[in-house]
Amino acid sequence: MDALEELRARLAEARRVVVLTGAGVSVASGLPTYRGAAGSLYDDPAHLRDSFGSTLRRDPPGFWGRFVTRRALLRAASPNPGHSALAALERRVPDLLLATQNVDDLHRRAGSQRLVELHGNALVERCLDDACGAAPWRSESDDAGAGPPRCPRCGGVARPDVVFFGEGADERWDPVRAFAAAGPVDLVLLVGTIGVVESPAQLLDLARPAWTCEVNPGPAAPDLAARLDARVALPAEEALPALV
Ligand SMILES: [Zn+2]
Repeated sequence: MDALEELRARLAEARRVVVLTGAGVSVASGLPTYRGAAGSLYDDPAHLRDSFGSTLRRDPPGFWGRFVTRRALLRAASPNPGHSALAALERRVPDLLLATQNVDDLHRRAGSQRLVELHGNALVERCLDDACGAAPWRSESDDAGAGPPRCPRCGGVARPDVVFFGEGADERWDPVRAFAAAGPVDLVLLVGTIGVVESPAQLLDLARPAWTCEVNPGPAAPDLAARLDARVALPAEEALPALV
């Protein structure tokens, strides 16, 4: 049995499943992966990190002018068959939690409902002042000339509800921890995740000893390879529709 066949058979039997997706699932939607990608929300990580640490507070119009230019690409993108297959899988597996490293909103638009956005969502904004208490809200436009969006509660400058480099967001894992604590996880599926962040390994620690499979056309990250039970070396938009 090849890896895709085995994954399909295991999924048909599994009751509790966690799926973790990364940038690879959105490539077929025209969104570049994290590294070395012109036009990506993260096309220049160092720049974004510096931007957030200093520019947003010092120069909100400058930060937001650049950010909405990138965000417009996400808003214009559409879910691909990989996103749709995961939404369909949620309806078939008795208990499935989808966690994503992506901030591109595409799982939500594809119809996934039980979704944890570990790094936030670029189309959502919140108050820059954590003490304000305003609930995050969804942005509706990307007008680079409109100036920084404002908090509807206090009128202060808003920020994207995204985890930037150097920002901790450990509490965003709480729903995943709660799922793992509620009972044994039968299967963990990693799809297009990127090895430069720790999320995949963190998930495997939480869900141990679940059967673990990665769907990724490239080589497995060295620290992950030894922990996988199976690997499907195909792009998400090819492998996932074959599962449902
Ligand atoms: Zn506010």
